[in-house]
Amino acid sequence: MSQLVYDIRNSRYINLTGRCTLRCQFCPKHNGSTEVHQYQLKLDKQPTAEEIIPLLGTVTDFDEIVFCGYGEPTLNLAPLLAIARHVKAQGGNTRINTDGLGNLFHRRNILPELGECIDSLSISLNAQDQATYERHCQPKLKGSYDAVREFIRLAPSYIDSVSVSAIDGLEGVDIAACQRICDDAGVEFKHRHLDVVG
Ligand code: SF4
Repeated sequence: MSQLVYDIRNSRYINLTGRCTLRCQFCPKHNGSTEVHQYQLKLDKQPTAEEIIPLLGTVTDFDEIVFCGYGEPTLNLAPLLAIARHVKAQGGNTRINTDGLGNLFHRRNILPELGECIDSLSISLNAQDQATYERHCQPKLKGSYDAVREFIRLAPSYIDSVSVSAIDGLEGVDIAACQRICDDAGVEFKHRHLDVVG
């Protein structure tokens, strides 16, 4: 039985999709695992807002309601926006953990829509250049690295809190260079450690 919502620390996470246009080598689902933090996250279909909203509980009991899970949440955009609007109407805080490829996938700037109902974005940059990105993330869509860089540049104009991450310990990833990219874009940089997901 897959889990549509799950809790990590004092936040409630929403497992909104199993789909993703990246095939990161470090992704748990490409390493034979269907679990994150002991939760079974493999989905047979993309859930709807109507399925998720009753599972949220009292959203103000949590630090944040986080769109994350086992795929890229912005690929299931209409339910994401409907759920986020519900959470904001109830006084909760919202965050998306994203690969930053939503604009490339949807072929338009989705940040104005996100800006209406999302408080925080955590964007995975993962690499300081295209070759390193392609090696570790194996994007299916052409132009993915340029797209995530552009998304990082645009995001602070729409979203109050933007942080960007890369993983320390992946071969060829230059953490200092990733930090400089974030400094130039005026966003916070967080480096994560290999083997810690969520
Ligand atoms: S972006 Fe996330 S869900 Fe997609 S392949 Fe990479 S680690 Fe997995």
